[in-house]
Amino acid sequence: MSFSLEERYEFFRGQVSYRDLAHGAARWLTQLLIATPAAKEKLAEWVSATPPPWATPSSEELQSKVHYFGDFSMSSTLAGALERLPPPVRDYALERVSFMGIGWQAWGFCGPWPPRTPERPWLIVASIPWGRKDMNPVDVFGHELSHAWLNQEPSAGDQAMSAFAANDLMNTPERIFRQLSRETVKNVSSMRRAAARRERLARALTRAWGFRGPPPHEVRT
Ligand SMILES: [Zn+2]
Repeated sequence: MSFSLEERYEFFRGQVSYRDLAHGAARWLTQLLIATPAAKEKLAEWVSATPPPWATPSSEELQSKVHYFGDFSMSSTLAGALERLPPPVRDYALERVSFMGIGWQAWGFCGPWPPRTPERPWLIVASIPWGRKDMNPVDVFGHELSHAWLNQEPSAGDQAMSAFAANDLMNTPERIFRQLSRETVKNVSSMRRAAARRERLARALTRAWGFRGPPPHEVRT
C-alpha cells in the first residue's frame, strides 16, 4: 500500500517538491515501511535530521562505512544489499548495525568479539554455504535488515536468547506444553503469535525492497 501524493508531500513537510514526488521521488515511502511503531519513530527521526537530496553512496563508499566482520568475499554482497534499501533504512543500517558474514571463504571463526558499542544495538549474521546456489546472501542481509528496521531496538542490557531457550519457546514438545500452567501457555502463545507477525511483516517488506524471501524455516528471525 502506498500513500497518495498529498500524503507524501505532507509527510516530508514540503522538503520534497510536488513535482519530484510526482516523478517518483521517495517512492519507498509506503505503509509497510512504517508498519510498526518502532519503524515509524525511526523514519520520523531520519526525516527531521536528513533533508534531501538523498544520494545513493557507491558500493565502495558503503563497504568503507559498514561495520562488517567475517568473510571479506561477502562484504561486496552486503554493500549490494545496502544499495537497494530506501535511504532511511540504509542510513540506519550503517549507524546502528554490526554485520558478520561467514560460509563463503571460512567455515568457522575464532577471535575476539567485534567491538560492541551502545551505538550499535543490532548484530546481523548471514551464513550461506557456497554450494547453495538457490540462495544468495544478498537476500539474507535484506531480510535481516527488515527485522532491524521494523523491530524495537534492543536496550543496553538486552542479550540474545540462548539457542536452547529459543528452541524451548518455539518448539516446545506437546507433552511438556500440556504440563505448563495456563498462565505460561498464554504467555508462550502470545510470544509465538508476536514472532509470527514480525516474520510476516519482515517478509513482506523484504519483498517490497526487491529481495527474494528466504524459504520458510531457514532463517532465525
Ligand atoms: Zn525473519
